[in-house]
Amino acid sequence: MTAGNRATASTLNLEKIRSDFPILSQTVNGQSLVYLDNGATSQKPQSVIDAIVDYYTTTNSNVHRGVHTLSQRATDSYEGARTKIQRFINASDDKEIIFTRNTTEGINLVAYSYGRKNIGPGDDIIVSNMEHHSNIVPWQMLCEENGANLLVVPIDDTGSLVMDEYQKMLTPRTKLVSITHVSNALGTIQNAKQIVRMAHDIGSPVLLDGAQAVPHMPVDMQDLDCDFYVFSGHKLFGPTGIGVLYGKAEYLEAMPPFLGGGEMIKSVTFEKTIYNDLPYKFEGGTPDIAGAVGLGAAIDYVTNLGFDQITAHEEELLRYGTELLSCIDGVTIVGTAAHKAGILSFVMDKAHPHDIGTILDEQGIAIRTGHHCAQPVMHRFQIPATARASFAFYNNKEDIDALVKGIDRVIEVFS
Ligand SMILES: *Cc1c(COP(=O)(O)O)cnc(C)c1O
Repeated sequence: MTAGNRATASTLNLEKIRSDFPILSQTVNGQSLVYLDNGATSQKPQSVIDAIVDYYTTTNSNVHRGVHTLSQRATDSYEGARTKIQRFINASDDKEIIFTRNTTEGINLVAYSYGRKNIGPGDDIIVSNMEHHSNIVPWQMLCEENGANLLVVPIDDTGSLVMDEYQKMLTPRTKLVSITHVSNALGTIQNAKQIVRMAHDIGSPVLLDGAQAVPHMPVDMQDLDCDFYVFSGHKLFGPTGIGVLYGKAEYLEAMPPFLGGGEMIKSVTFEKTIYNDLPYKFEGGTPDIAGAVGLGAAIDYVTNLGFDQITAHEEELLRYGTELLSCIDGVTIVGTAAHKAGILSFVMDKAHPHDIGTILDEQGIAIRTGHHCAQPVMHRFQIPATARASFAFYNNKEDIDALVKGIDRVIEVFS
């Protein structure tokens, strides 16, 4: 990498950043907390916590309903968050941003609304072997209901998509490609633009599961050109309970509503209901207003740090961690693709992942162990589970040193 091309070393002020996250300064089991479970959920900076408290302290009211001052203020806050998200992912219009509860709900919305209308018997839906369960089960449910087929693009030993096989699966029967942007179990960063281009060549729309992408790298809807994109606020340093579905307006306009009720209608009589315009058509019921406000504050926080810095720092952590773990006898890293986000999945010859997790926890180190809601990935590598350390920008080399020391302790216990 040349200097003008990209930041080669991060200049993040980690001490300052870590002090912005109150939860990080506690001790767990008598040890300073080392939080390496960011793939499951991320911690929240004080500014996000403050934004939520401030919303309930000064603004709380229902949105889009009242003429009174608080209601207008709440609506402005909620819609302001939508605009922040639109800019954050470079969508061309804020009506293309639908608030959901999380990634899971976004995918289910598309399966229910787009899928039921446009996918039928004999049609194909393509996913990959490295999907999170929430990008498998909704499609299986749809296929069961309407007789469509679920095709699975294989992955190679490094955890990369086998693009030739993907190419072969794309036919006029393909009605949707739904693939993860970054794998939560392996860390693989997909060549998303190419995946989209290849599907568009045969006329199929593409949904990208961005749950593990948005915390680590900039994403640009107009550049990716995907038709749907989903992510969760809680993995992006925002609160739980709020997520985002991006959809191209042409698709969303043509899709029937998901949840019927208040907020999503223009007028209701017993004879006929006229649905509301985008994005409200897909936001039935009172939304998580405080959650949206909190997510807006989280986006402000990461934007302020800058993804050049975040990415450079996490690449450095990944390089450092990969190097150290590779040198430990009896440790095997699972997921070795050339392009990876800050996720280190590994197994040990002598210890089950669950035991690794327990022994690390005794030392105040939080990692995830299990199948990571991606059982087909585990089957692919013929392992029941992995231990997974996943990084965020607030992690530092000391966290990785602690992880290595913890693994040494696991080896001691099992030797
Ligand atoms: C976490 C995750 C999901 C599900 O997110 P929820 O917030 O639980 O809905 C889906 N896909 C990937 C890749 C994830 O990492």
